[in-house]
Amino acid sequence: MAAQKKLIIGNWKMNLNVHDASVYLHKLDVEIQGHRDVEVVVAPTALALQPLSLQINRHKMKLAAQNFYWRDFGAFTGEVAATQLRGLVKYALVGHSERRHVFGETVKDTREKVHAALRNQFTPVLCIGETQSERTSGETKDILHDQLVGGLANVTSEEIDNIVIAYEPVWAIGTGNNASPHDVADAVLAIRSQIRHLYGKEKAASVRVLYGGSVTADSASDYLHVNGVDGLLIGGASLKLHEFGSIIKKAHNITQ
Ligand code: PEP
Repeated sequence: MAAQKKLIIGNWKMNLNVHDASVYLHKLDVEIQGHRDVEVVVAPTALALQPLSLQINRHKMKLAAQNFYWRDFGAFTGEVAATQLRGLVKYALVGHSERRHVFGETVKDTREKVHAALRNQFTPVLCIGETQSERTSGETKDILHDQLVGGLANVTSEEIDNIVIAYEPVWAIGTGNNASPHDVADAVLAIRSQIRHLYGKEKAASVRVLYGGSVTADSASDYLHVNGVDGLLIGGASLKLHEFGSIIKKAHNITQ
């Protein structure tokens, strides 16, 4: 499958203020010297995107938004528009389980966001995954299908090249209960077969698919070795400088 640089995204969630984010980024830059064969992305608080965009060495790291609103402008108090992120970020998370399950983001919202990101020239990272009860009742593949087909509606075959899919089982996020590499392999296969159905064989092989859910420095290599996994979406462990650095080093070693 896709032979590309591994993509490692750190989702800092609602942690680190602007100052601490800047200090962390500086230290991370030093920590991962010489790992340019890994695509390293951090998703800080929206407040930090502007200052970090001036600080970041874009040859070494990139920025992602954790969230945004899909309308271009208007009376939407408290929201940040995709148009306001244009030029600041290379990626943005869409449909993260915390957006879906804490803030009630719908499949229609994810679809609108995917299109808003593409219009504004950054890459949506479409996060999909089943809850524990959906898994227990054998619905995992149906959920992946619905979130994928719903989130990608009207995305063209050219546009799919600029989309990343993240398999993030809800029960594994922030819980320490990570999926087994075997579960991840099954889910990634289901995702790629759905992409094949929608866009053909070539796109099914080339679309980038990540795994996320309680990944640590100890487990990272196991997932990076799963066939069809192009990288990782890391939450909690991305807040620990040495641990995140070590995950990036593991991705670098695999690429060697
Ligand atoms: C995430 O926030 O996308 C995530 C995978 O979190 P964690 O690594 O903490 O499970």
